[in-house]
Amino acid sequence: MPTKAYGAAARDRPLEPMLIERRAPTAHDVEIDIAYCGICHSDLHQVRAEWEGTVYPCVPGHEIVGRVSATGARVSAFQVGDLVGIGCIVDSCKHCPDCSDGLENYCDQMVGTYNGLTTDAPGHTLGGYSERIVVHERYVLRIRHAEAHLAAVAPLLCAGITTYSPLRHWKVSAGHKVGIVGIGGLGHMGIKLARAMGAHVVAFTTSESKRDAASALGAHETVVSRNPGEMAAQAKGLDFILNTVAAPHDLDAFFALLKRDGTMVLVGAPATPHPSPQVFNLITKRRSLAGSMIGGIPETQEMLDFCAERGIVADIEMIRADQINDAYERMLKGDVKYRFVMEIDSMTE
Ligand code: NAP
Ligand code: ZN
Repeated sequence: MPTKAYGAAARDRPLEPMLIERRAPTAHDVEIDIAYCGICHSDLHQVRAEWEGTVYPCVPGHEIVGRVSATGARVSAFQVGDLVGIGCIVDSCKHCPDCSDGLENYCDQMVGTYNGLTTDAPGHTLGGYSERIVVHERYVLRIRHAEAHLAAVAPLLCAGITTYSPLRHWKVSAGHKVGIVGIGGLGHMGIKLARAMGAHVVAFTTSESKRDAASALGAHETVVSRNPGEMAAQAKGLDFILNTVAAPHDLDAFFALLKRDGTMVLVGAPATPHPSPQVFNLITKRRSLAGSMIGGIPETQEMLDFCAERGIVADIEMIRADQINDAYERMLKGDVKYRFVMEIDSMTE
């Protein structure tokens, strides 16, 4: 089915309108009319080939929400008209230990929503900056938020699950003091979710202009990380740090803030590595450094339901499809509070 989309023809080209082809739904497929797609910093990293493996044309977008428009003959869990979401995963092997544990995000054969291997034309997956998508039912998420919030739900499909999963895995709860580093798309969700889990939340930002905004998002304290005095006041005080920063930076400045046995989890994925941390900063307090990638499908549904029950959504700025290149430039400057969301209807105008 011919489908309007926005993508890049090459790494040095801006995103522009293009026509792509979507397969007709097979037995276990769900076809979705996309209403909104969130703009993740990973979209920018990949469309500009900052990570390895980008294939062109590249149509980014993995924070997808919309309505079911058709279902395959064997699909019983979804019906035409249902509000649904697609995150970063559209396929996996379905039988390895990771898939069996509902951790498809760690399956060696996980297929990303864009840039992943597929038998569909053109041989790699094409993402959510498009009018519709066809996905196996296993990877389709149910949205229980009120429809009025649909656009602000879109970023939960990546920014939400990428912060929820490590907060849950490291059992963040009441009594914990948690640092969220980088107040962008991921970080602002990290503040909301850690707060909803009962933690005392400290937001770390390089932007003085976000100081008041972070407290409005739910942070109990905000630290401007460029200010050594404010950093020193947090020394050895945090149980857990979730680091979402999209660029290489000094990790030691943050290790110094962890208590004994504290953990810093990296979810930010910069194009070039962070300087390696000082061993003494780890061994002297038995501190840990870890990483985490998105989340599995069952946990993504759990996160969506957790957010629906508590009325949690992202803070968004809506854009038209033809504003995407400007939005990328603003994202690079940290000039978005806190997630751009593309209105897909704007492609047809
Ligand atoms: P974003 O909206 O651009 O937020 C990143 C934040 O990092 C910025 O708002 C800024 O916050 C801070 N920052 C500090 N210095 C920076 C610099 N030199 N350049 C860029 N940002 C800087 O990005 P995002 O969508 O939240 O994604 C954050 C990172 O996570 C990206 O690398 C993305 O690829 C990665 N990611 C990873 C996963 C995963 O599964 N692990 C999933 C999604 C995204 P302040 O202004 O508060 O300092
Ligand atoms: Zn993402």
